[in-house]
Amino acid sequence: MIRLATCSLCGCFGCHMSFLDMDEKLFDLVEKVEFDRSPFTDIKSVGKCDIGLIEGGLCNEENVEVVKAFRENCGILVAVGACAINGGIPSMRNHFPLEACLAEAYLDGIGIDHPQIPSDPELPRLLDKVMPVHEAVKIDYFLPGCPPPAEAFEVLLEALLKGEEPQLPTNLIHYD
Ligand code: SF4
Repeated sequence: MIRLATCSLCGCFGCHMSFLDMDEKLFDLVEKVEFDRSPFTDIKSVGKCDIGLIEGGLCNEENVEVVKAFRENCGILVAVGACAINGGIPSMRNHFPLEACLAEAYLDGIGIDHPQIPSDPELPRLLDKVMPVHEAVKIDYFLPGCPPPAEAFEVLLEALLKGEEPQLPTNLIHYD
């Protein structure tokens, strides 16, 4: 059985929602794959897998550790969606110093009652800039879109499960 892992790093889970939009085709998929770490299983650490799907870019040190663990354990790694591929909307903070973003969010923003920048040691340390995943690890395939349509997941996974190169038709990777 093919093992498949997925994770959402600095993303909004919209790519995972689109994955679920495969609807009844998910029944065919689970005949062929076993899910490892994924929001669908709630398994917290990735084991040896054939395919890993990464949603979201890298905004903190934990994201970097997770994507490195996926790279170590997954034969094929796919960056899924704009946030994983180029940082997406979260990377808009890259235009400002991290300290200014934290001040706006926790000290100076509208409606803040008790200004305090969170400093619990359990919180992962933020990176100065949000990075696409390929800046930390080698990525084998990129699935564009915000989010990629469910059909794009189908075409990608169907090819990978057969050991073929994915060929996505233009209408599934063209946005305007
Ligand atoms: Fe959400 Fe779009 Fe980013 Fe996917 S690419 S995580 S849908 S914002």
